[in-house]
Amino acid sequence: MHETGLSEAIVAAAVRRAAGRRVTGLRVRIGGHSVDSTVITQGIQVAAAGTVAAGAAVDLVLEPMTVACHDCGRSAPVDDHLAMVACPRCGSVDIDVTGSEDVVLESITVDVDVREPA
Ligand SMILES: [Zn+2]
Repeated sequence: MHETGLSEAIVAAAVRRAAGRRVTGLRVRIGGHSVDSTVITQGIQVAAAGTVAAGAAVDLVLEPMTVACHDCGRSAPVDDHLAMVACPRCGSVDIDVTGSEDVVLESITVDVDVREPA
């Protein structure tokens, strides 16, 4: 996974959605496997520097993919690349992989610059 480009894309999407408002939080959903959430979080924070999203809190939601085996019935989250090729329990290649490797900017929190009268 190309963390730098990914982080920049997430920040760019957040900045676009914020439409000039200050972003105080990003919620990012990451599907797939073997994601180093620390790297992603830091990458987003670095990419956000100098934008309206600078200093925003990063909230990652990790959604591992699941492999279901038709032969032995095993269903488990994918923890390595091999598990996507063959069933870790029985070695069958008759498997279904569900989930996606999508990285989605789920929501942003913006600082709404409206002063309520006291
Ligand atoms: Zn199996």
